[in-house]
Amino acid sequence: MYLKKKAIQLSILILACLVLAGGFFYFDRQMPKVTVIEPRGKTYPKLVTPKDYEPLPVPNDAIVKGRTLSIPILMYHHVEDLPTKANKVRQDLTVPTANFEAEVKWLSDNKYNSVTLEDIYLYSQGKFVMPKKPVLFTFDDGYEDVFINAVPILKKYNYTGSFGIITQNPGTSQGTNIYAPWEEIKNAQSQGNEIVSHTQNHFDGQNPKFTASYIFQNLSASISDIYNNLGTTTNILIYPYGHYTDSYITQAKKSGFVMGVTVHEGKLINLDDLMRIPRVRVHGQETLEKFQKIITE
Ligand SMILES: [Zn+2]
Repeated sequence: MYLKKKAIQLSILILACLVLAGGFFYFDRQMPKVTVIEPRGKTYPKLVTPKDYEPLPVPNDAIVKGRTLSIPILMYHHVEDLPTKANKVRQDLTVPTANFEAEVKWLSDNKYNSVTLEDIYLYSQGKFVMPKKPVLFTFDDGYEDVFINAVPILKKYNYTGSFGIITQNPGTSQGTNIYAPWEEIKNAQSQGNEIVSHTQNHFDGQNPKFTASYIFQNLSASISDIYNNLGTTTNILIYPYGHYTDSYITQAKKSGFVMGVTVHEGKLINLDDLMRIPRVRVHGQETLEKFQKIITE
């Protein structure tokens, strides 16, 4: 009798273990693995050089074959009234809210249509019809001011934006930089905005100290972070500092990215070179006239 009781207890225990193990296995298959990578330093070194902004020549071949698209992809960082104690870099990166609204209103008055980075990818494959006068708003780094100030303005004018998130930073702050929490990012996404990767920790893709396996791990984990927090994935990457190398692009593709966004100045995209998308930078203290010139010239 005692033995029988023991045998039943043992069977129940084994069954419970099997169910638990099965559950873990199932759960494991559902959730992409997250690799935690060392956080970056507290300050951004000034790493973007004039060379990074140099326009990329588009081969004549691409033009002849009609494999190009002309579109201003606007690059923003902060949208807010300038914080006191803002240094020169911060001033240049900050478009005051009123100026941002004036820019968006002008685009709206002039019948520009916003598209997403994914739309460009689909267009390159013949799966998206590009509207007349397309424009694209990108916001780097995921600062909270952008979600508070720019997102409602975009919505007001029936536009959407594309946001490059440093996936270890949401909900944290460093100096005058406050990063939007995931809930705010998710809320913007639910309004039609596009969330893409800006790596896990804003590491410099041209710094030789980062090995191929580090790059691969970091970029893959940034996709997992987005998945784990938003339930959606992305295959688009905005390069921190606009920095990349051939080897970096190889690792980015291996991680699953099909599009890489740079800081090369320009509006003409080579649809057969989507890992090197150019943009147009909007400077903090720019006049509306200058902005209009950038778009139309
Ligand atoms: Zn950045």
